[in-house]
Amino acid sequence: MSKAPRPAPRSGRVALVGRPNVGKSTLLNALLGEPLAITSPQPQTTRSTVRGVLTDDARATQYVFVDTPGLHAPKTRLGERMNLLAREAAREADAVVLVVEPLAGRDEEALVAELFPSRTVVAVNKVDRLKDKAALLPRLASLGEGHSFAAIVPLSARRADGLALLLSEVRALLPEQPFLYEPDTLSDQPTRFFVAEFVREQILAHTKQEVPHGVAVVVERFDESGNDGTFARKSRRGPHEGITHIELCIHVSRESHKKILIGARGQMLKAIGTEARARVEQMMGTKVHLQLWVRATPGWMDDPVRLRELGYAEDDGTSTALPRRDPPQGDE
Ligand code: GDP
Ligand code: MG
Repeated sequence: MSKAPRPAPRSGRVALVGRPNVGKSTLLNALLGEPLAITSPQPQTTRSTVRGVLTDDARATQYVFVDTPGLHAPKTRLGERMNLLAREAAREADAVVLVVEPLAGRDEEALVAELFPSRTVVAVNKVDRLKDKAALLPRLASLGEGHSFAAIVPLSARRADGLALLLSEVRALLPEQPFLYEPDTLSDQPTRFFVAEFVREQILAHTKQEVPHGVAVVVERFDESGNDGTFARKSRRGPHEGITHIELCIHVSRESHKKILIGARGQMLKAIGTEARARVEQMMGTKVHLQLWVRATPGWMDDPVRLRELGYAEDDGTSTALPRRDPPQGDE
């Protein structure tokens, strides 16, 4: 019996970009099949780029997805930094997935103008919200008319609907080259980055508007005890012996927010800690002891020195794992 020849391996970076709240992080998690990136109904949940690796052995493809903060009109230095990160990720990627909603969004054209249509696939997300799918047709037509995108794919990240089509369109844009990571890698970013993110996710879930916007979470102590420092897929995880001790400091932008976050008799902070710990334990495969502190650091979102201290600096040490490569020539 003769076997079909194995396709040459393809791999590369795929940036997920778009306006805030269109579902970029939800899409990343759906593609990975694991809740790696934090999501919430609040805009500006994603502040740093989050990388997740998906390896499809059958099709010899490795996608290194780069989730980005939503492009928006920035009000603070933190906001400017977030926009910069998203643009940089799009520029350096082999393929871009532009996530939009079924109805045209504000400033969408300005955003599209910055991308390279020939290596951009448009994902029209949240189609589960449409009662009448025919309503999508004029939207798809107008997206297709103005630009020569590689493809336009309607999908629902929440229902994991339409993802296979998206992946095959993205695959066609990736260069033929060996895998960049071990096949069971889930992310190349350090565990401590995700621990801080999972704590911030619980703060987003438990508090409203003003508070989460001014929150930064920093890992102050991390005793690893046998963890290899990055997240592997389940097959390579634990069980590990012992307990990982982690201490984190939650910085808030106002003294009054500190009270809200701690809550009456410390209840709020306790709830945040308990839920974040469960998530961290699940991802690390070890028992975790999580200690949280709250500190008021007014003005950090506009202070370059503080931004650096709190992990939002140009060089945060988490973005060096992949070599910088020149963007593909020819279509710009
Ligand atoms: P991001 O800011 O673009 O990363 O957006 P998130 O992934 O954080 O999602 C923003 C909100 O949109 C959340 O409340 C998600 O649950 C919701 N959302 C994301 N994808 C879908 C989808 O396919 N359908 C629906 N109905 N909601 C979605
Ligand atoms: Mg996001």
